[in-house]
Amino acid sequence: MKTYRFILEPYKGRKTRYVCPSCEKQQQFTRYLDSISNEYVDNSVGICNRKNTCGYHYTPKEYYKNLNQNTPSLQKQQQQQRQQQQSKQQRQQRQQQRQSDKISYLPIRVVKQYQLKKTKNDFIGYYAKLFSEEIMNNLIDLYKLGTYNYSYFKDAVVFWQIDLENRVRTGKIFHYCSKTGKRKQQNWYHSLHFKNNFQLKQVPFGLHLIKDNQSKKIAIVESEKTAILMTIFIPKFIWLAIGSCQNLSFAMLSEIEAREIILFPDAGKYELWKSKIPKLPKSNFYEISDLLHLKSSDQEKRADYDIADYCIKEYIDFKESE
Ligand SMILES: [Zn+2]
Repeated sequence: MKTYRFILEPYKGRKTRYVCPSCEKQQQFTRYLDSISNEYVDNSVGICNRKNTCGYHYTPKEYYKNLNQNTPSLQKQQQQQRQQQQSKQQRQQRQQQRQSDKISYLPIRVVKQYQLKKTKNDFIGYYAKLFSEEIMNNLIDLYKLGTYNYSYFKDAVVFWQIDLENRVRTGKIFHYCSKTGKRKQQNWYHSLHFKNNFQLKQVPFGLHLIKDNQSKKIAIVESEKTAILMTIFIPKFIWLAIGSCQNLSFAMLSEIEAREIILFPDAGKYELWKSKIPKLPKSNFYEISDLLHLKSSDQEKRADYDIADYCIKEYIDFKESE
């Protein structure tokens, strides 16, 4: 899969050329586009046309290198108010659902109780080798990841599902191989600890992050691991995971209102995800990324290759070329 993720924006008239951040001359600056997000990498990332007199050239590679030394959670964006119309029918549907649901919650203390002892579990340990402990520690804090040691689980990671009122719906416990990063075992926290009458209503992993970042676009992927890792690569989105394909549904996204959402299906799932968009809450605006659909091989489609696999491969190529 050889692609160029970052390209200089093609010239489409004066409005595609900007003020140079260095020499401040108008319409001399070409920005880099990220072909994954279809957005500028950053307003400062690009090249000045005045090669000899100015010479400013800030590459995406340099930008991400600098970014990795900062915390993704500290990335600040301007607050913007977005108003969107929401269909009456869905508003009622949502209200009815809230009234009829008797939802069970885990005690909030579980988050603290299992708070990850930094880089101590197999999942974090594996990726700390690839990125850095600092980056992974920031992600632990952001997603409130836990470490679980109980029965056959040892140094497993817990992905809590935390709702907009900071209530814990459940936790998914995953055991990864510390050598390969591949998944070995999994279970639900509520099934292991609350056997009777637990009324589970899932929310996307990472949902608690959306309320403090009203202007950020929301990106949705299938696996929790992918959401966490994509926060490193594209921190300007809030990355949520729905856990499985069947969960791309009205119920799962019902607590997200009037937001811009980009869906990133795994390779081979593009058509399926696309077909589900009409049934999702109408107050949101949806886009779907066809990047993996277009670029992945048949083998990658069968292997459920995802956007983080794609970015990690590219990241390793970057590192090796240094
Ligand atoms: Zn310049």
